[in-house]
Amino acid sequence: MPQKVVIIGGGIVGVSTAYYLSHHESNPSVTLIEASSIASGASGKAGGLLALDWHGNDTASLARLSYQLHASLAEQFNGRERWGYRELTTLEISCTEGKAPSRHVAGVPDWLREGVISKVGNLGTTQSTAQVHPRRFCEAIVKESKNLEVIMGHASKVVLYDDKKVKGVEVEFDGIRETKIIEADVVVVAAGPWTSRLLPNIPVSTQRAHSITISTQTPVSPHALFTNIKLKNGSLATPEIYPRTDEIYACGDVEKHAPLPKFARDVKVDEGRCRQIMKDISVVSEILEYGEITAMQACYLPYSEIGPGPSVGWVPGMRNVAVAAGHSCWGICNAPGTGKLLTELICEGRISSANIQSLDPGRYTR
Ligand SMILES: Cc1cc2nc3c(=O)[nH]c(=O)nc-3n(C[C@H](O)[C@H](O)[C@H](O)COP(=O)(O)OP(=O)(O)OC[C@H]3O[C@@H](n4cnc5c(N)ncnc54)[C@H](O)[C@@H]3O)c2cc1C
Repeated sequence: MPQKVVIIGGGIVGVSTAYYLSHHESNPSVTLIEASSIASGASGKAGGLLALDWHGNDTASLARLSYQLHASLAEQFNGRERWGYRELTTLEISCTEGKAPSRHVAGVPDWLREGVISKVGNLGTTQSTAQVHPRRFCEAIVKESKNLEVIMGHASKVVLYDDKKVKGVEVEFDGIRETKIIEADVVVVAAGPWTSRLLPNIPVSTQRAHSITISTQTPVSPHALFTNIKLKNGSLATPEIYPRTDEIYACGDVEKHAPLPKFARDVKVDEGRCRQIMKDISVVSEILEYGEITAMQACYLPYSEIGPGPSVGWVPGMRNVAVAAGHSCWGICNAPGTGKLLTELICEGRISSANIQSLDPGRYTR
């Protein structure tokens, strides 16, 4: 049983792991190291959609567990108010800019333009899809962790003894030349897109994505939308739109080759891409068109190019170093489950609440 666990990364995967570890009956001391601020990466800039049963075989069991944990955390800590947890309907809509559909289409939410949407499909009901405001979730979960120590600094290295057992984490602090080693019995690397910089044998790739938040005069109904918008110039735009309790969120396409900066706080935002998202979603909704952009932001999606799914478990070639990274577009949904399962692995020696065998990080070295 570990006495002291150090987690690198204060995104949703790191904070969820901190939460479950800190509440484990074995009572380990838990320290979280974050280089920028809690949820400064994708975990603060994601849509926040949760889906019960949209997942492939490798993550289906994790997702079911995690969906349930989201519901119980919301119940336990008033997540409906604190982080905007709610069940919602999810639709796929299609339209062609400037072209009215030939027939009436039923089931279009009333905040979309009349006579524009040519197709509506149901992707999820209030039984199978829900949402959170991801940054608010992360901040609340840090507060609800028991005796969690949060250190603001950049973890530069996982330090091992000669026998590959973990010694601790080397940390750099802003404006201070000397580094410090934070000792640990177990280290968890949950550094999202930065994970391979600490663990080169765990391949996590990155893609940059832009998003905006909008405030509108008229409230809109809780319908998450996956769109297919054929634009006048012939291209297809596929922004996702997530109405939240206090704002509307929309995100656009990902770019593969944008270089990842050292810190989440230094991620560059291309305002042109953000304005394009606004332009695209204005095709489907006048209410959105006349809304006010309240944030333009960008972040990096961590994903595994050689899949399947994220890496969750012990890192091969090291002793007592675990990883949880590469959650792709389902990190918000699957983080509580990931945190709970890692806690079982670290504190009880085996994962029992879900089957994530195929996410074993050792798959890359076999
Ligand atoms: C546009 C967009 C929309 C999305 N929408 C959804 C959605 O609707 N539903 C869903 O389930 N998922 C969604 N996702 C995916 C989700 O956002 C990610 O899978 C998830 O946020 C990854 O969390 P993470 O904790 O692994 O990484 P991150 O959020 O990137 O967090 C990593 C943290 O580690 C810190 N860090 C990194 N290196 C170090 C270091 N050396 N020392 C100290 N700290 C370090 C960083 O500062 C950062 O805070 C979306 C992603 C994008 C890009």
